[in-house]
Amino acid sequence: MRAGLENPLPKVEAGGWLSHTTRRPSPHRDLRPTDGDIDLLVIHSISLPPGEFGGPWIDDLFLGRLDPNAHPYFSGIAHVRVSTHLLIRRDGDRIQYIPFCERAWHAGVSCFEGRQRCNDFSIGIELEGSDTAPFAPAQYQSLAAATRAILSAYPRIRPERIVGHSDIAPGRKTDPGPCFDWGLYLSLVA
Ligand SMILES: [Zn+2]
Repeated sequence: MRAGLENPLPKVEAGGWLSHTTRRPSPHRDLRPTDGDIDLLVIHSISLPPGEFGGPWIDDLFLGRLDPNAHPYFSGIAHVRVSTHLLIRRDGDRIQYIPFCERAWHAGVSCFEGRQRCNDFSIGIELEGSDTAPFAPAQYQSLAAATRAILSAYPRIRPERIVGHSDIAPGRKTDPGPCFDWGLYLSLVA
C-alpha cells in the first residue's frame, strides 16, 4: 500500500456501493442502457453557492431537495435533476448517492473518443471545490483511495480513461479546473 492512503482501503461492495463511505441514495438515477458497460471515470468539481464551501446545498441538489429561495443562485438550478456517484467534501469525507452499476446524471452532453452520452458508461466523482481554490490534501487522499477501489472493481477503466468533465464537454464545462493537480492525483493512484 502507498503511504498516506487510508487503511484499510475502501472496496466496491456487492450492489455497487463503496465501503467506508456515507450512503445517501438519490432519486436522480436510472439504469445503464447496457448492463456492466463501465469504462470511464469522470472527475468534477462543484461548490454551492459557487466559491463557497460547507453547508448542505450540494447534498440537497443531488437529492432533489434544493430550496430555490435559500440563495439567489439556487433559483436557476433547483429544478435541474443532476447527481453523481460520489462526492468528496473538503475534509475528505465521501458520500455516495448512486450505486456504480446504475447511471448517475453528471456528465450531460458529452463525448469521449467519439462516443456520446458519457453517463451511459462512466462513473462520476465530484470534488467540493472551485476553479480558483486549491483542493485539500485530504481530498486527494480520499479520491485516490476511492479510485483504486473503482479501478480494481472495473478494470476496463484504465488510468488513461480517467478524465475531467472539461475533457468530455469542452467549451461547456471547465471542471475540475486549473487548481486540480492531475499529477499528484495520478501518482497517488498508481
Ligand atoms: Zn462537472
